[in-house]
Amino acid sequence: MPKRIITLLLLFFVTGVATAQKKIPTPAEVLGFAPGEDRKLASWDQVVDYFQKLDAASDRVVFETLGNTTRGKPFVMATISSPANLARLEEFRKIQDQLADPRKLGPLATRDRKAAELIRQGKTIVLITCGIHSTEVGSYLSSTLIAHRLASSTDADVQKILDNTIVLLVPSLNPDGVDIVKNWYDKTLGTPFEGTDPPELYHKYTGHDNNRDWYAFTQVETQLTVDKIHNVWHPQIVHDIHQQGSFGSRLFLPPYMAPVEPNVPKALVQGYTELGNWMAAEMRNKGFEGITTNSTYDAWSPARAYSHYHAGVRMLSETASARIASPLTLKFEELRSREGYDPQKESPKFGPLWRGGEWHLGDITKYMTTAAFLLLDHAATNREQWLRRFYAVGKEAVRPRRAGELFGFLIEPSVNTEALLDILKRGGVEMSSAKQGNSFRVGTNELPNNTMLVRLDQPYGAFAKALLEVQRYPNLRDADGHPIAPYDVTAHTLPLLMNVTVHPVKAPFRNLRGTPTKLGPSEKYVETSARFQSMPAFYHSSVPNQDEGWTKWIFDSKKISYGELGDKELRAGISVYKPSAGVTVKYYTIIIPDQPARTLLEGYRSGAMPPELTGGLGAQGVKTLRDFVETGGTLIFLNRASNFAIEQFKLPLRNAVAGLPRTDFYVPGSILRIQLDTSHPLAAGMPEETIAWAEDSPVFEVTNDPEATVPASNVHVVASYAADKDPLLSGWLLGGDLIKGKAALVEVTMGKGRVILFGFRPQYRAQSLATYPLFFNSLGSR
Ligand SMILES: [Zn+2]
Repeated sequence: MPKRIITLLLLFFVTGVATAQKKIPTPAEVLGFAPGEDRKLASWDQVVDYFQKLDAASDRVVFETLGNTTRGKPFVMATISSPANLARLEEFRKIQDQLADPRKLGPLATRDRKAAELIRQGKTIVLITCGIHSTEVGSYLSSTLIAHRLASSTDADVQKILDNTIVLLVPSLNPDGVDIVKNWYDKTLGTPFEGTDPPELYHKYTGHDNNRDWYAFTQVETQLTVDKIHNVWHPQIVHDIHQQGSFGSRLFLPPYMAPVEPNVPKALVQGYTELGNWMAAEMRNKGFEGITTNSTYDAWSPARAYSHYHAGVRMLSETASARIASPLTLKFEELRSREGYDPQKESPKFGPLWRGGEWHLGDITKYMTTAAFLLLDHAATNREQWLRRFYAVGKEAVRPRRAGELFGFLIEPSVNTEALLDILKRGGVEMSSAKQGNSFRVGTNELPNNTMLVRLDQPYGAFAKALLEVQRYPNLRDADGHPIAPYDVTAHTLPLLMNVTVHPVKAPFRNLRGTPTKLGPSEKYVETSARFQSMPAFYHSSVPNQDEGWTKWIFDSKKISYGELGDKELRAGISVYKPSAGVTVKYYTIIIPDQPARTLLEGYRSGAMPPELTGGLGAQGVKTLRDFVETGGTLIFLNRASNFAIEQFKLPLRNAVAGLPRTDFYVPGSILRIQLDTSHPLAAGMPEETIAWAEDSPVFEVTNDPEATVPASNVHVVASYAADKDPLLSGWLLGGDLIKGKAALVEVTMGKGRVILFGFRPQYRAQSLATYPLFFNSLGSR
């Protein structure tokens, strides 16, 4: 018998009444503690158990499993509304579908009238997502409190929310991390390490980067959320509940600070500005302190905001953190400025002052649940306004393009075109090929068969445009003239990241104009384990490293096997490469993922974590790695890790941009242009010009340092920034002249082996397919 029926029967016998609605379990009854209590975390099983019991007891809640997480746990969602609305879900979904795509409303002349009728009938769809960052424990706990109140309250304001909205509640976007964090927290409870972050990525592959996947769609959790929630329901409001550091504001709410990515519809900017400012004002009226708006978080990257390109506002909230579930005490003088405000001073972007004191998990859940119910109140009270705005965004999106306006993009077939088109398709973008027997043309040139046209006059044309065009990040400076750091990175041009030739097309679409985004042809590249002499090994840092995680995801998705060597093994000086002595060779190649040189060398500081986790590679680890190379191994250093190799191996190289102030040189996640020596095996199959994903990246200059362990002639420059071209292709770069003519990828022979230094991220977040061959060539047999 299904569990749900058993529970219902049980309730029937216990209470003796036919309606189960009266016995709504509280989170405390199921979890054994009230969410928000100090030092208490729930496991994922407990959370699922709570929602199952809520579903069984309440006619306002439908709970379902949408799929499995990376580690095989249930990925779940609760749909919450009035029983009358829940009985008509399919009807409301159809209303959303038509308002999202006004072409479905029939002839132009009658669309507005039909839309007005649907707007009158429809509900505001609100998606609430919790817990994508698993150390930010307040939100998955708050999800049970939010659900319980919605399921049980007889208050008029809750009834209004239930009648006017459909709430899609995701208790965690990363269920795997719930248990990773809880296990570590419980293990260290009562020790000097209570409240520290776990020493492993809380998402198997992406760690904290899991909310930077909203256009690449690489992870199953992202795919489930997009395929089964966003694309089904097209929510008007997405409330994404996060936590920030402990020392700034108590709460951030939108509007976002500049810049806003230019393809985010103005109506959505107005929407999140109005809603965020109203929520902040209401929170202040209720006596909440330390609230900031229009600061810290920008709206630039589609990587963090799927809804901004799909007619919904993203309402990020960021509440100050405690030490996981343990309280902390803060002095007012300890509070620190973030971008746009000073928590020690009232300003239009911050107030009223929070005077410091104790900060508990219970404060976090109180801020979160209050903000969530205010958001729901606004969504319910202004239901028709939210639906009108939603329809207006769709209407503007599908409007025929006027002469001279951008009409669309033509995408040529090539090695990675399918990967690019898959992204657009998942984001709801329609595309077409030329009519049978015809082909698209650029001037007098015919484009290849299977060239695809993506028109912009479609519901999610802005998503395509944002990803297909080049970014020109504004040169933002603070009052002192210092560059204002972007919240994340500054570029997301897929044709460059994936080396796909794309032509912008103007209306009317007769012939093509403008400059194509074009790098040059590259060969089909097939990676298999068989290609390598032996399995490569990852250096596994004791300090969790996202670049390591992303790279392992790439390997796993291509079914390439790999090994792993930690600090302990490398410090012990194990013999990893001795083929001549007849010893079984385990690894010929070790990958050192992107990590600061100091973290590699020192790891966690002594006393910061249990002793077995501290100390990094240390001098012994350096010696092991040097021996490994000198006896014939290959060491691959990615991005910042290259600085470690230069310093510790005393290579005849210097990082030409080390220590430069941001006013002189700054590249916070941008796509640059490099030239390759295609005669070198590392650049085999590559075009002469390609990209480099630069992000706090070193830039190499060969030196004649007499102290160096090898002569300068041992350095082979494989890639460099052109002496006579602007290095910037997309994003933001300050001081580009300083790197012209300098090296971006070098191979240094050392003894019988070699060291390969990437001055960029060739496999950046599993997106820079254009430079995968450089990375895989470095693993290949020599
Ligand atoms: Zn977060």
